[in-house]
Amino acid sequence: MSARFTAPRGTNDFSGPRARRMLAVLDTARRAAERFGYDPVDTPIFEASEVFARSIGEDTDIVSKEMYTFQDRKGRSLTLRPEGTAGVVRALIEGNLVTSGPARLYYWGPMFRYERPQAGRYRQFFQFGVEAFGEAGATADAQTIHLLREIGRGLGLSDLSVVINSVGCPGCRRDYGARLVQTLRPRASDLCPDCLGRLERNPLRILDCKVVRCQEAHVGIPSILDALCAPCRAHHDALLGHLSDLAIPYTQDPRLVRGLDYYTRTAFEVRIPGHEGAQNALGGGGRYDLLVEHLGGRPTPAIGFAIGVERILALLEQVGIDPIPLGAPRVYIASVGVRARARALVLASALRSEGVACTLDGSDGGFGRQLRSAHREGATLALIMGDDEVGRDTVALKNMAAGTQEETPLGTIVEAIQARLAVLGAAARGEGTHA
Ligand code: AMP
Repeated sequence: MSARFTAPRGTNDFSGPRARRMLAVLDTARRAAERFGYDPVDTPIFEASEVFARSIGEDTDIVSKEMYTFQDRKGRSLTLRPEGTAGVVRALIEGNLVTSGPARLYYWGPMFRYERPQAGRYRQFFQFGVEAFGEAGATADAQTIHLLREIGRGLGLSDLSVVINSVGCPGCRRDYGARLVQTLRPRASDLCPDCLGRLERNPLRILDCKVVRCQEAHVGIPSILDALCAPCRAHHDALLGHLSDLAIPYTQDPRLVRGLDYYTRTAFEVRIPGHEGAQNALGGGGRYDLLVEHLGGRPTPAIGFAIGVERILALLEQVGIDPIPLGAPRVYIASVGVRARARALVLASALRSEGVACTLDGSDGGFGRQLRSAHREGATLALIMGDDEVGRDTVALKNMAAGTQEETPLGTIVEAIQARLAVLGAAARGEGTHA
């Protein structure tokens, strides 16, 4: 007996309605991004490890604990992408994509993090993300957050809560880091070993620590919002004003630093209201004005976000929203007999070239079995063709929902089907039909 294989721990197979729902979510997100002027970009799922280490930061959980890193046959260190931004920035620099004016790009695909799998946390998960390059103003931040909300609205999730913060510039962070160290050093014995190291190297990272004991030691720490320099403060205030202009409700959380080092100024997250806990973030992002230069490009301000597709699917299921659009009507051709089968094959081809989705049985079963398949596939119409009907140049046309059936001439069957589908489609959309 051969071994039974299972999917690797922390990964998911998508099939049936779940696979369709995932595509529906991506489609909604893509259409919203295109309304905001974004173009698609696709980058490899692995990059030189250094691309991620330099961008995301050596002290982050992602780089220090979660990367899928391997050596290829020539001994190069490569890493499966744990997030999308670093690769897009690498591509932007390499392809010189910011020429005159801003570049707005969106992507989707699998990301990989070696995390402890649990509900909403996987080792391979899908993200949809956007990145806008070349715009430093707070209106770009506001529009980015607006787009994230618009994607939620397009999916029927209109009450997502926006949490925002400013992590300032390196200057603000130096000042704030010093204050944080001053407050936390006396509590060093309560910090986890990772944070003890961060206290010396990268104090802001401490705010992102997931260890409960460590979080308890943070009570009463200073707020980064009180440590912003004047330009960072002005940018943040302008953003808050624009969010109000757009009637986007938000809360501020001065501890929101997100798990990546590259953010400057704005950091934000969209959460499910009423759901506390680590897995309640549907998506998040921020500004990263120094990253392009840091990876070797020309200084280019930038802002983006990524949303977790599995988390969105889980939420949609929880609130009872099915994102699959009304399925395109489908025609099923049932045929028995040598001549009928040959005609069925040709007719299916004619319908498909007219844009009508059409299937026919490939297992040589009888009519009963074929019509059961038509039901299972959700066909709107079925054509029933035996050698007798074909001999008379007719076919039986069956309305699957109503169960009614009528004999129709084969010569005009394509037009007859298109007319029926137009009427049935209008009825499914709730539009009035004329006799
Ligand atoms: P990040 O790239 O960490 O900013 O995460 C952006 C979004 O991706 C999160 O809000 C989640 O929705 C999703 N996400 C991040 N990590 C995982 C994971 N391990 N499993 C599933 N979704 C994730």
